[in-house]
Amino acid sequence: MAKQLFIKTFGCQMNVHDSARMADVMAPLGYALTEDAGAADIVLLNTCHIREKAAEKVYSELGRLRRRIEARRRAGGETLLAVAGCVAQAEGPELLARAPFVDLVLGPLTLFRLPEFVAQAHRALAAGACPVAADGGRKGLGLIDTDFPAEPKFDHLPAPGVQGPSAFLSIQEGCDRFCTFCVVPYTRGAEYCRPAADIIAEAEALIAGGAVEITLLGQNVNGWRDADGTRFGDLLRRLAGLPGLKALRYTTSHPREVDDALIAAHGELQVLVPFLHLPVQSGSDRILKAMNRGHTAAHYLDLVARLKAARPGLMVSSDFIVGFPGESEADFAATLEVVERADVIQAFAFKYSPRPGTPAASLPDQVPEAVKEERLARLMARLDARQMAFNQASVGRRFPVLLDRPGRRPGQLVGRSPYMQPVHVMTETARLGELVEVEIEAAHPHSLAGVILEAPPRQDPERACA
Ligand code: SAM
Ligand code: SF4
Repeated sequence: MAKQLFIKTFGCQMNVHDSARMADVMAPLGYALTEDAGAADIVLLNTCHIREKAAEKVYSELGRLRRRIEARRRAGGETLLAVAGCVAQAEGPELLARAPFVDLVLGPLTLFRLPEFVAQAHRALAAGACPVAADGGRKGLGLIDTDFPAEPKFDHLPAPGVQGPSAFLSIQEGCDRFCTFCVVPYTRGAEYCRPAADIIAEAEALIAGGAVEITLLGQNVNGWRDADGTRFGDLLRRLAGLPGLKALRYTTSHPREVDDALIAAHGELQVLVPFLHLPVQSGSDRILKAMNRGHTAAHYLDLVARLKAARPGLMVSSDFIVGFPGESEADFAATLEVVERADVIQAFAFKYSPRPGTPAASLPDQVPEAVKEERLARLMARLDARQMAFNQASVGRRFPVLLDRPGRRPGQLVGRSPYMQPVHVMTETARLGELVEVEIEAAHPHSLAGVILEAPPRQDPERACA
């Protein structure tokens, strides 16, 4: 019988992708994914350190999992408990002090070493290295691998397995921008860009495996460049030419890395969806400077205007942080203004969370929690209203929709519009994985409903992608 691997992922799309890669490297050793942590031979948490709340969730989850693992051990089963990702990288030794029942601690850049690490753990257990904890249970092995290896992890990973119609392709890792609030440069290390040839080869393999939509991933994805100086816009052009690719997305991009060639690519390449996640974080130039973002609000608004001019129908989503140290009511008002002026239709909004070791954590004028709460509530209300308005304005439009999951009702499938709105359709003929043309009939706060058009009789002037 296959050995069982349980993975729970916290945080960003990069982590979701990394989790899939860890499943890929364990598959040749006979490990199959399970959803039952209580029956797993390895329980792995792939963690996020971006905000304090995200990191604390990991410790609560570890407490819950420990009880299930102990129960399995009492019944004669052995489970290895592993923590991977950014909490592992940032807090390795502290993590083991707080959760001494953990066996393996593995950073995001060394995930390819998981098989060897598991073998090392099994050797230690076979050699009798199972000290008893104070409460009578088995103490964790406490093995740590949080190096920043000299060679990029991509060189050690096997080609990814078939991902289906919508696939992720990691093109860049780490970040050199050092925004003063952010842990990423410390947990994921210096920026590394994969060579274009490797990216194209992986995209071809994904398409051959059935992908029609590819999302390029990187912490600073549009900062990608090849050793010969080729920039991100050129990479998009090459990918857009691949036969069979119907939609191309990328996340997360930085305003400072949007150049003329990238804006032109949005105008020329119909395969690029007319939707861009372009985080601004704040609308106040004073705060943007303190954040070390390297752009002003006016620069951001100018980019959005130029992107929209290049590609009619293009809309942006964004990330916002409220309550950065020193943020005044006037600074916050500037953030609300940028939401309106950039016509943001969706966003992630966060209360500033001081992260140990980042410059902003030791700035004076930390904003009181109650003020952050109140500003976040006001911002969220604005963002929700804008999202609802955009959903309502979608009624009557036609979108290409990639059906990617079953709905709750029999005969219902759910897909995503080019603007990432979930779209519900009732169908007896369409199948999961199909890209269909849908006319939108109803709007809800966070989703749309529509009908599949068999043969589209007319062209929506702002029609999104092929
Ligand atoms: N590279 C992306 C960029 O430059 O926008 C973002 C990566 S980060 C994983 C995702 C988002 O988390 C950021 O855009 C920011 O809004 C938020 N974030 C990062 N650090 C934060 C902190 N200390 N407190 C609150 N939110 C934070
Ligand atoms: Fe963090 Fe800034 Fe890098 Fe984004 S660009 S990952 S926010 S340091």
